[in-house]
Formats: sequence, C-alpha cells, structure tokens
Amino acid sequence: MELYKSNEIKVYNSLSKSKEVLKTINEGMIGMYVCGPTVYSNVHLGNVRTFMSFDMIYRYFLHLGYKVRYVRNITDAGHLENDADEGEDRIAKKARLEQLEPMEIVQRYTVDFHNILNTFNFLPPSIEPTATGHIVEQIEIVKDILEKGLAYEKNGSVYFDVLKYNETEHYGILSGRNIEDSIHNTRSLDGQSEKKNPQDFALWKKADERHIMRWPSPWSDGFPGWHLECSAMSTKYLGENFDIHGGGMDLKFPHHECEIAQSQTRNNVKPVNYWLHTNMLTLNGQKMAKSTGNYILPNDFFTGQSKHLSKAYLPSVVRFFMLQANYKSILDFSDAALLASEKGYFKLMDAIDLLDKLDVSNASTVDVESWKAKCYSAMNDDFNTPVLIANLFEGIKYINQIKEGNESIDDKDYEILKSTINSFVFDVLGLEKPSGSDNGSDKLKSVVEMLIGMRNDARENKNWALSDKIRDELLELGIQLKDGKDGTTFSIN
Ligand SMILES: [Zn+2]
Repeated sequence: MELYKSNEIKVYNSLSKSKEVLKTINEGMIGMYVCGPTVYSNVHLGNVRTFMSFDMIYRYFLHLGYKVRYVRNITDAGHLENDADEGEDRIAKKARLEQLEPMEIVQRYTVDFHNILNTFNFLPPSIEPTATGHIVEQIEIVKDILEKGLAYEKNGSVYFDVLKYNETEHYGILSGRNIEDSIHNTRSLDGQSEKKNPQDFALWKKADERHIMRWPSPWSDGFPGWHLECSAMSTKYLGENFDIHGGGMDLKFPHHECEIAQSQTRNNVKPVNYWLHTNMLTLNGQKMAKSTGNYILPNDFFTGQSKHLSKAYLPSVVRFFMLQANYKSILDFSDAALLASEKGYFKLMDAIDLLDKLDVSNASTVDVESWKAKCYSAMNDDFNTPVLIANLFEGIKYINQIKEGNESIDDKDYEILKSTINSFVFDVLGLEKPSGSDNGSDKLKSVVEMLIGMRNDARENKNWALSDKIRDELLELGIQLKDGKDGTTFSIN
C-alpha cells in the first residue's frame, strides 16, 4: 500500500489561516505550483530558503508515493521595479545598464540559479516554464478578462478593475487586506493616472521606446504584467483548480492576491485549494539587506568568504541548518548557529556510518515502531522538520546505545531503523554524506586511512614519537583520530 494512504497530512493554509487536512483533487496525485525567481541577479538566500522548503515538501510527497507535478516558473520578463505596475522591467533595466541582450541576463542568472540549487541538492521541478515562453497564453487571459468587463484598456495598457471584481468576489481573501488598504503604489508615477483606481494592477503594459523586451498584442507592443504569468502557467500545467500554491510570504500581497483575481475571473473557479507560504530570514537577528552590509550570498557559505562567517560550510550543513527551523518560522542565520548545525550534521552522519556495522540480536529492547511513527507524525504535522530532526537524533541515540551494548535490536527492527533513517535523512531532508558533496573527499578518506595504517605500524613498533606526530599533524589539519576498541576512526572538521 502506498504510504500516502496511511499518512494524513495537515497543512497550514494561508487562505483559511488554519491547519487543514490535505485532501488532493485526484487520489494519489498532487499538483503544486511555486513562484520561481526573477532572473535579473544572483539568487538570494531568502529565495533559496523558500525553494528549499518546497523541495523538502516535494520530496516528502514523493516519499509517500504521490505522483506530483511540481511546477516552478522562471520570471524572465514583466517583473517591474517596485513590485507594482510602474517603473521599468527589472531584466530590461539590467540589460540596459550592462549593455547586454536581455536574454543574456536571463541565461546568466538562470544558470547561476540552477548551479546554486544543484549544490544544495535540490530536485528539479517537473516543469520549469518561463514567462517569455507563455506570452500567447497571457494575451489570451487579458482578452478574456477584458471581454468579461473586469479590465479596461488605457493608452495601450490594460488594467485589472479591482473594485469591480470586488463587487462579486473578495479581493484580499488571501492577504486579509481591505480593499481600502490595498493601494499597491502610493508613489505618484507617470503611468498611475492611467488607472481608474490605485488598487488596479496591470495585465499588459505598453512598452516605451527604451523598453527592449516587447511583444505584439491587440493593445500595443508591450509586455505582460508580472502577476499574469503565474495565472497562465499554473492553469496551463495544473488546471483551473489545483492543490497547492507556494511562495515566500512577501508574495502574498499583491502578487498572489492578483493571481487569484485573474484566475478566478478567467476560469470562474477557486484556483488553489491550499496556499503555503514560507517565512523570511534574518542574519544575526537583523533583516538581511545589501545596503547595510548585513547579508550573505548563497555562495559565501561554500567559500567562507564573508565577514559574517568564520569558515566555509558544506552545502549539506547549510541545508541541515535551514531545515532545523520550521518553514513558517523566521530563520536567523549566524556563524555560531551554523557551527552548532555542523556538529549535529556530523553526529548524524557518523551514526549513519555506524548503522551499517551494528550487531543484530534475537530480541529488541528499543521500540523502533513507535519511534518511526513519531517521525512520520512530525512530517504529517505541516512538515515539521525541526521535530523530525529531534526524532532522528533519538534514533541516533539508539544506534549508539546498541553499538555500546546497552540496548539490543532484532533483525526486523534493525531494517526499520535503517530504512527510516535513510529515507528521512537522504530522501526527505535531502542531505548528502560528506563524501558525496566533495569530489576530493573520497581520496582524502583514503589518505587518512593510509596514515592511520602507518600510525598503527608505528605503534606496533613502539615508535610513539612517529605515532603522535601523525595524530597531532592530522589534528592541526582539522582531522581528529579517535582510538576505540574496534580500531581507529576519524572525523573531519
Ligand atoms: Zn508567481
């Protein structure tokens, strides 16, 4: 039997503002859409956290045996400067500043985005559609909304009529904002006078002469409004009504609110059953901002080249650190917290190495079944990874106690312990063993094992000076030898 049948998942739905039992539209299948990056600069850490949370959620669904269609888009056009409807397209602006073709910008930062995500061991989504690849679909939606009388054209641009929509639907249903508060843009900019009401948002913008990214449409040569692409692509690939829509909480308003209004108007059904939002992150207790210097780029972790970091960290250590917080909580980065996570990560990996070498007995003194159930119930409770990780450490305690002979485990329980730990650590949390994330480390391991062999020879020959020298010099390199009854093991810090 598929695991999903025996695991009822509760998710916090931003739409109802409560935890609800996840009931999928089609049994055994999940459609999930997550707003992807705008590829006009290097991906920032907040985005990595959002996508990592949904990567973990995606992995858990797959683990439970769901067939998942996971769509995460690439915004390569239409995302305006101030997240509202005014200003310049971010990608076009960057292209103008750097004297590049817009598609060069898109290519460069899409590659960067994928590199970072690969380094963190993300699974690729099922479909990764681009805004520029769906201009036709977006124009169709604009036509349809115009026909329904919920949009109007002004000087070649088309705006969504929020007040009119709100007469029959609820604009603000997701964010909880009142229509009076929902003024997207209080700044008075050129285009603003085109709108009937400040709450209205652009479905299509006429491009001025400077604007290099433009497409023909019935209204003008221009480009789609940012919110439109997600309505177009989610409907195209997941249907008019689908299971899950995710994103960072900063996208709740106006982006997701506008998506709901567009899709609801176009399809006349509630587009999304469950809205999931990830929280923000801070650095040393303060908001990350380039302007104040209080920020870390994802790559900084791997090089250690940041004033906020004392050393480089393995991608899996950073991943482990991020998943130690619930996706709905603010996550605070600090070097001290990363160092603590690093210790925990190696403790976990050391125990997993031990797991293969455990002796099996005739009877178990540990209750593996109920421990396993606790691991699942943590994840079933809105993907509570910190509780899952605490449970995994309880499993590690078992491993160490069995190894030391204080507890025993029978064959059946041993298989459960092993498969549960491996599934959650590698498949669901997406962690990798230290050697898997570093091509050189297998060789390093062999070299250290060779030195341990030489040290053993030296000790047999009572050459204590050489044996100590090998141990001390390895320690200076951050490699610690531990002598135990089964021989010498080592850890690399
Ligand atoms: Zn979106």
